[in-house]
Amino acid sequence: MTSPRTEIKTTTCYMCACRCGIRVHLRDGKLRYIDGNPEHPINRGVICAKGSSGIMKQYSPARLTRPLKRREGAERGAGEFAEIGWDEAFDILEKRLAHIRATDPRKFALFTGRDQMQALTGLFARQFGTPNYAAHGGFCSVNMAAGMIYTIGGSFWEFGGPDLERAKLFVMIGTAEDHHSNPLKIAISEFKRRGGRFVSINPVRTGYSAIADEWVPIRPGTDGALLLAIVHEVIALGLFDRDFLVRYTNAGQLVNLDERSDDYGLLVRDPATPEENPEYAHNQLWWDRHSGQPVRTHSEGADPHLLGTFRLPDGRVVKPAFQLLEERVKPYTPEWAENITGVPAATIRRLAQEMGIVARDEKIELPIAWTDCWGKEHASVTGNPVAFHAMRGLAAHSNGFQTIRALAILMTLLGTIDRPGGFRHKAPFPRAIPPAAKPPRGPEAVKPDTPLGGLALGWPASPEDLFIDSAGEPVRIDKGFSWEYPLSVHGLMHSVITNAVNEDPYRLDTLMIFMANMAWNSTMNSVEVRKMLNARADDGEYKIPFLVVCDTFQSEMTAFADLVLPDTTYLERHDVMSMLDRPISEFDGPVDSVRVPVVPPPAGCKPFQDVLIELAGRLKLPAFTQGDGKRRYRDYPDFILRYETEPGSGIGFLAGWRGTGGEKFMHGEPNPRQWEMYAQNNCVFHHRLPPSYQYMRNWNKGYMEWAQRVRIRRFGDPIILQLYSEVLQKFRLAADGKWGTRRPPERLRARIKTYFDPLPFYYEPLERQATDGTRYPLAAITQRPMAMYHSWDSQNAWLRQIHAHNHLHVNPRTAAAQGIGDGDWIWVESPWGRVRCLAKLSEAVEPGTVWTWNAIGKQPGAWQLAAGANEARKGFLLNHLISDTLRTADGSAISNSDPITGQAGWYDVRVRIYKAGAEEPRETWPQFEALHAYPGMAREVPEEIAYDASGGRK
Ligand code: SF4
Repeated sequence: MTSPRTEIKTTTCYMCACRCGIRVHLRDGKLRYIDGNPEHPINRGVICAKGSSGIMKQYSPARLTRPLKRREGAERGAGEFAEIGWDEAFDILEKRLAHIRATDPRKFALFTGRDQMQALTGLFARQFGTPNYAAHGGFCSVNMAAGMIYTIGGSFWEFGGPDLERAKLFVMIGTAEDHHSNPLKIAISEFKRRGGRFVSINPVRTGYSAIADEWVPIRPGTDGALLLAIVHEVIALGLFDRDFLVRYTNAGQLVNLDERSDDYGLLVRDPATPEENPEYAHNQLWWDRHSGQPVRTHSEGADPHLLGTFRLPDGRVVKPAFQLLEERVKPYTPEWAENITGVPAATIRRLAQEMGIVARDEKIELPIAWTDCWGKEHASVTGNPVAFHAMRGLAAHSNGFQTIRALAILMTLLGTIDRPGGFRHKAPFPRAIPPAAKPPRGPEAVKPDTPLGGLALGWPASPEDLFIDSAGEPVRIDKGFSWEYPLSVHGLMHSVITNAVNEDPYRLDTLMIFMANMAWNSTMNSVEVRKMLNARADDGEYKIPFLVVCDTFQSEMTAFADLVLPDTTYLERHDVMSMLDRPISEFDGPVDSVRVPVVPPPAGCKPFQDVLIELAGRLKLPAFTQGDGKRRYRDYPDFILRYETEPGSGIGFLAGWRGTGGEKFMHGEPNPRQWEMYAQNNCVFHHRLPPSYQYMRNWNKGYMEWAQRVRIRRFGDPIILQLYSEVLQKFRLAADGKWGTRRPPERLRARIKTYFDPLPFYYEPLERQATDGTRYPLAAITQRPMAMYHSWDSQNAWLRQIHAHNHLHVNPRTAAAQGIGDGDWIWVESPWGRVRCLAKLSEAVEPGTVWTWNAIGKQPGAWQLAAGANEARKGFLLNHLISDTLRTADGSAISNSDPITGQAGWYDVRVRIYKAGAEEPRETWPQFEALHAYPGMAREVPEEIAYDASGGRK
């Protein structure tokens, strides 16, 4: 008998979005087990329950294994498919897409879920020429990205985070129970061992909040009020870092307060020193304390007033931005915030003092010399060790952008930006404020057989950057970058189906969805959206005529497809986590990584990246085509090796092992052995910057020069933190008929003037404003469970043993008021619908909130779960209660989204709860027809699957 051949292959996990390094152990080519890779910088060998359960993804009975075409005459949603070959699938797509591209490229829309290939999908869409492209960000946490990036040039998660290695106080706000899973768990555990204090502000005390030293329960959607009250206290007590504010922020810059002028509310420019770079001007003025005169910022020897009112020689009254901030937060007292948030005023005061005192009195000094962008040499790097982490709990509200501005401003006042012990950027951040990439400005950017004239997603700096037509109406199907959602930097995926069906602003032809379950957990208003997917126009054709769904598993969404494309798992394909996209950089420098196949895919499956490369070649999209008209790239691995952002730029998807022999990094000629070199190096490339480039990167001359050299930054100018946002004020001015040439339609004028405030302010989320709080007194929210990544794992045999259904968690006091006991069947009802579910009483939720884990409830038969599985009979989906549309005062419909960014207001719904009748069935409601297996899938799923010791199935 020959001894078994064992192998260990390294790749990158994708059981959640954290990108830990893993080792996959194989015996005779078969998967045996997965563990963490100790050599990987992200997780240093740690693996979580999800990561080690990746093996069960391979054995899921829900695997799609063939391209499928909806059977002639079968209704969408019924899941009636005929098996076809890939040639036929490509022929169908090529014919349809070529016609759309040659006639009206807007009619093709590509929207993707939580994928990690947006640089490729975005390139494909742009080359195709459609404006209708986005990934999941608009319904996830775009407020977090936009609110932070428009203020400090970076954000949390992939863009930056808390430096817990040196922090003394760590404040986490609105973060799910295991967001940023292994890396943050490792960092918190080390932080706590070193004696750091951890405060968690969250309506729910689970996950991270459960191990915090202090849990501060708060009512959902009110974080902005809390943060503004803390800002009030920090300013009132003088606990802000004045030196930091003066040099690195616009706190001292003078704002024009002459209401009659066209640039009212904008920063005053120095007429003597014209703007060197109009895109990012640096000729603002300070009011110098020494000379009593206005001087250009950063003038040698000058020291600006942060408070006061001044009159310029031309008579204009001006105030420093900090003065305006101080005036703004004056009424936001802790007592005012207590009424809104439920957090006692004394607690707010104590937290503000603690933050300010730790920042001021426990300063860190590192012996690292560096030079700032104005040429001043610093002998050391200093830091104020208060670190924050925040995520979707703040973001997924229709007031989230201004809330997150308030957080970024608090972090700035405490002087914690890109300093040791505070917030640290991760390459390619910090970006300019706003980043240079812009969407197109009008419909002329969309032309037949031509790439889109701009990026489908970008960062508007003013109304001039909106993507609108001459009537001021949207060009995109999701209305992104229109006056309705001007800074929708990640698009509005949650509006696509509703808008397309309503032909508002126009009808689509083909909607391609990748890795997003828009018929279930990735949509608001799921019951109605499912009807929309089946809606027909007067001519009998579907309102969305052709639906293409690419996924690895059968789901509620695939059932609605006209064409299903079976994807591969993360263990079967090449992937890149690119510097052009969302890499996995560390605080000390850029990091990118790859996945390489460790097992072959089933014969009928194809990686979506290869599908795009094939389609791009067939459609002859310019970036994918040679001069002689032949396709440029064989497949996705070949594309990754040879693609450059411009011919000869030396910048490609991967930063490591570039140059013909792999001797260069960040930029260099394509290297034919680059995949091999990544595979030999744990699938990760990590470039450590010299210590003098690792901090203060917004203003660090050496770092800026390096970043320009490697083309992470276009300009080398300092990135000044924006306590006061001129970008927002320009939109307000436009609504007042001033600044620029573009004006919002009359119906949106008041909306722009209200929400585009250059200083943060608190308002109730829009849905809450429109809901009768007496009838619906409770906030209802979701979070993902620690053992599953959203909905990805309810078909995972091991992880289903941890959760197979969810409960509605209710505070015992709230439950008692309704006569509800632990384990009772109850109704949870919003203005939009009701759901029957099981109640779980828990002190770990504030009394005004009920919550559940998202996406465990399933349609019967989805993912090949037995029709009677707990996921379908006891598990429930809160999305049935959340509307994607709200009514404005004049009765018109508007998306349930943040009016600035278009972020979906997932957590704004209000509900009431009551006991289900004794005679009612003991199962969840609504119920749906059972899905069944498609061709190529396992027809019958055994009750039990056993594996022998060698990994073979018995
Ligand atoms: S944290 Fe996420 S990426 Fe890391 S091992 Fe767990 S599932 Fe995989």
